[in-house]
Amino acid sequence: MRVVLASNNRGKLRELAAMLEALPLELVAQAELGVGEAEETGTTFVENAIIKARHAARSCGLPAIADDSGLVVPALAGAPGVRSARYAGAGADDAANRERLLHAMRGSHGADRACHFVCVMVYLRHADDPLPLIASGTWHGHVLAAPRGDGGFGYDPVFGLDDASSGGARSAAELPPVEKNRRSHRGQAVRALLAALEAELGRAPAKRVSAD
Ligand code: IMP
Repeated sequence: MRVVLASNNRGKLRELAAMLEALPLELVAQAELGVGEAEETGTTFVENAIIKARHAARSCGLPAIADDSGLVVPALAGAPGVRSARYAGAGADDAANRERLLHAMRGSHGADRACHFVCVMVYLRHADDPLPLIASGTWHGHVLAAPRGDGGFGYDPVFGLDDASSGGARSAAELPPVEKNRRSHRGQAVRALLAALEAELGRAPAKRVSAD
């Protein structure tokens, strides 16, 4: 079965494709099918993931998987939150978004620097699916004072891991990809979605009972 993956973010596509390999599905990135970006008008990660999946499912007539994710800083009233990709303005790049975050956090110490990544993943069987499969994951850490590491994408270089380390906290951008996937919000959400999908795909289609 072909399923469209409703994301154009290359960093996320790379991580998702690697983690969803286990499924007996042919995943096709929406760009390969000529599907453009949906406008993310929701106020929650769940709404935005459904908007993206519905847009892709409607455009190509296939089941769709989408995720919505971002970084939440409670001391900033939840910002960057659902606006993580455009925190420094429409079309802002990762470096500009990180810069704005570090600026907003100036003067914050200790527990005020706590943050968490959130990822919600949804599977829509078709564009009008009234009960999509929904899975989520959360990864706690803290905002570093300055970026570290060259791996990952987005806010990874300023996301400090909460494990003790003699050289100061490592950032998510310093984790090998396999370790990031094992710990991350996206890894958790993908594993939960995989379990739900496996249960769904393993279920035999209901037999039609004849009325005669
Ligand atoms: P989305 O494509 O609308 O879900 O936006 C997600 C944004 O959140 C990305 O552009 C990144 O800025 C940020 N983000 C989500 N997940 C991660 C991650 O694993 N590492 C770093 N940044 C992330």
